[in-house]
Amino acid sequence: MTDSSAVSALLDRIQPPEGEGREIPDAATRETIGRAPVQTVADLDDAIARAKAAQPGWEALGHERRSELLLAAADAIDANAEALAHLLSREQGKPLNGPNARFELGACSAWLRTNATTVLEPQVLVDDENLHAELVYKAAGVVGAIGPWNWPLMITIWQIGPALRMGDTVVVKPSEYTPLSVLAMLSVMNEVLPPDVLIGVSGDREIGARLSAHPDIAKVMFTGSTATGRKIVEASAGNLARLTLEMGGNDAGIVLPGTDPAAIAEDLFWGAFINTGQTCAAMKRLYVHDSVYDEVVDALAGIAASVPMGNGLDEANVLGPLQNKPQFDIVSRLVEDAKARGARIVTGGEAAPELGELFYRPTIVADIPNDAALVQEEQFGPALPIIRYTDVDEAFAQANAVDVGLGASVWSSDPEAARDAATRMQSGTVWINSHGGLHPMVPFGGVKSSGYGLEFGVEGLKSVSVTQVVSGPGRKG
Ligand code: NAD
Repeated sequence: MTDSSAVSALLDRIQPPEGEGREIPDAATRETIGRAPVQTVADLDDAIARAKAAQPGWEALGHERRSELLLAAADAIDANAEALAHLLSREQGKPLNGPNARFELGACSAWLRTNATTVLEPQVLVDDENLHAELVYKAAGVVGAIGPWNWPLMITIWQIGPALRMGDTVVVKPSEYTPLSVLAMLSVMNEVLPPDVLIGVSGDREIGARLSAHPDIAKVMFTGSTATGRKIVEASAGNLARLTLEMGGNDAGIVLPGTDPAAIAEDLFWGAFINTGQTCAAMKRLYVHDSVYDEVVDALAGIAASVPMGNGLDEANVLGPLQNKPQFDIVSRLVEDAKARGARIVTGGEAAPELGELFYRPTIVADIPNDAALVQEEQFGPALPIIRYTDVDEAFAQANAVDVGLGASVWSSDPEAARDAATRMQSGTVWINSHGGLHPMVPFGGVKSSGYGLEFGVEGLKSVSVTQVVSGPGRKG
């Protein structure tokens, strides 16, 4: 099958009958790709009822069988990876190449395989003459997974892989901007999973609101904006659903004095511009010591000006459009405000209409005051503000003076100095001489308004479980 007929075959599985549903545009060309179902709250209630009915049987299959089925689901994703990557590239905008669509499909498979094979053992709490007490982890029930539009497939897998592994069933509500690729991936996984274990319900924001408030939802895995996350916390007062909240960030990087700019420029660039900046844990502010400032700015501007941007299906491109108009408007507004504040646009600083409606040139903004909106707010796009500092303590204070704390990074030619400095960052993760790298066994989560709860690895399995203490007689009998 050609790529376009393979994408059409995927769409045929998920599209509603002719004339129904919502047209979803190609992020780059704005042509319609296909139609997504617009399901109702009644459809959602039905899906949750089916997932609830399926859950005991899924749990009863046991870890070994679930593991086999999840590995088979990962194989199914691999078998459809190229078609899914094409659909994702068109719907989300991210190019096939670079750390983008094909990379995202590879991550889906890798994460799911790790979930399938990671074991969460009971924890022996006391084992003496009188008492044997263990903490065991059991399925929570029905998990609601609510996702964003920036890494729609990978984040869905992060949410559903551990839950399925632990014996939960899952109802997924994809972002209304990227429903097609998520529904297509779920359909591929459902080739091998039992019925009703994994159900997608696509619709408007009210579906997310109802999912998070539903009395039969035991746990909500949410990734998205802090504003929506707060609403989910409010909803959880009713059903007391457990929550994992992965929300907005405004990650800072700090380049310490004495760092070789040439050695770090490429990694700095991709730390900020991965997925054209539309990444939760991308570097969104860079603090650079005065002694290396000009060299770092020039090196980053050189890369930004030369990296190919355009339609994601063109194999040469590694940067794409903003995914949607509201996000394009946020980036434009923040860069215009930076100009008005006297910041220096080293490269970019404007839209790229010749590429398409939602393209914005990779932008490096230098000599920007720390209190400018582009520094203080999450831009979520291809525009990096670089702040000059002379006093290291002040740089850390400025980096930490925001109410979010997802990731952060410290850059230095002296790894010891970087490690010493790293823990001064107020963030869920701090990287040394890189930014944004994730691993399926290394927990990930935010502090402050970036959320709570951990994903990945053994901690991720715990977060979709409920605990039970089993307490019995000790060795004396
Ligand atoms: P968003 O909050 O607008 O939407 C996220 C999801 O929530 C969508 O599926 C939406 O339909 C749903 N939703 C809307 N209203 C709801 C409600 N009242 N109750 C329940 N669900 C509701 O976020 P977005 O614009 O899609 O994503 C961008 C944001 O996500 C950025 O702030 C980014 O930093 C953040 N993000 C965080 C991470 C992370 O891991 N921390 C990862 C990716 C994105």
